Amino acid sequence: MRPVCKICSPFLPGLSGGRVSSDEAATHERVDNLRITPMRGAGRTRAAVERLKLWENGRTLKVKFLDGKPSVQARVEAIAKEWEALANLKLQFVSSGSAPIRISFAEEGFSWSTVGTDALTVAPSKPTMNYGWFDDDTPLREYQRVVRHEFGHALGMIHEHQNPAALGRIPWDKPKVYAHYAKQDWTREDVDLNLFQVYEEDSTNHSAFDPKSIMQYAVPDSLTIGSFAIGWNSEFSPIDIEFMRRQYPREAAAVTELSLGKRIEAELAKAGEVDTYHFSVARAATCTMDTNGPTDTVLALHGPGDPGAVLTWDDDRGRGTNARIVRKLQPGEYWLTVRHKTPVDTGRYSVGVKQRS
Ligand SMILES: [Zn+2]
Repeated sequence: MRPVCKICSPFLPGLSGGRVSSDEAATHERVDNLRITPMRGAGRTRAAVERLKLWENGRTLKVKFLDGKPSVQARVEAIAKEWEALANLKLQFVSSGSAPIRISFAEEGFSWSTVGTDALTVAPSKPTMNYGWFDDDTPLREYQRVVRHEFGHALGMIHEHQNPAALGRIPWDKPKVYAHYAKQDWTREDVDLNLFQVYEEDSTNHSAFDPKSIMQYAVPDSLTIGSFAIGWNSEFSPIDIEFMRRQYPREAAAVTELSLGKRIEAELAKAGEVDTYHFSVARAATCTMDTNGPTDTVLALHGPGDPGAVLTWDDDRGRGTNARIVRKLQPGEYWLTVRHKTPVDTGRYSVGVKQRS
């Protein structure tokens, strides 16, 4: 029998006396961890802000075991490496030196991982991931279920049952759930945090609830009202695979240099694509940044100096459905990100920055 405490309790960032905040770590790692998409409100445009914790696309992430048996380590490593086929990342297992992902087996009975760049908030001597019940006789399927899930967290995925789209989809029998987990020494707060509380709209894996996700906990029928159960998922779901491809695309455009006064012709060729441009401002002046072409673009201005800081954004102030930002910029480094208004659509556009003389 599988004791129920043997599920993932995700580590909470900020409780370990970390060096940087979760938001700082995320935005310094990757410019588009802060994504802005306009939403039409009642007669005016509002912005939906997505706060993700993804690693820089294409990165090699070092992984180090802090303890554990070599035979168990080898099985964890082999399954973790499956993620390399799904995401444009390399997992390099090292035995010495620093590594942002550090695995321990010391905390028995608990398996957990930090989410994405939150690993950077953990003190370097401490683990960012723990496996609490692996041994040589643990079945392969159990290794697969847990390692795929924990590495999903490590690459930036949250629990699927905490996807805002899951709200109301699981008919939890709350008193029974509290009583059940109390036997495993979980407080009501632990249960609220790990099972009932959903994330903000802005940090989700998928737009729809995906009960087949590797990031979904099992939901036993005995803890729900009526007849509802979700089994232990040990395979990646098609939506998991699509999500990770989109977050860590193989043909990702690198940051493109933009010269003041020159336009660049470009294309949002794939659903969800975000193009990033960098430009430098040498003297304080009013700048006009805009897109042109047939595509409904959203333009965001980041900086100065910090690609994670969004200064402002625009949807439709340009010609037609194009975006246009006019702003006085101090000398410094700036970034522009261009995305399609509708994340499933694609199209051509041009982008440029002009400085008023
Ligand atoms: Zn988990």
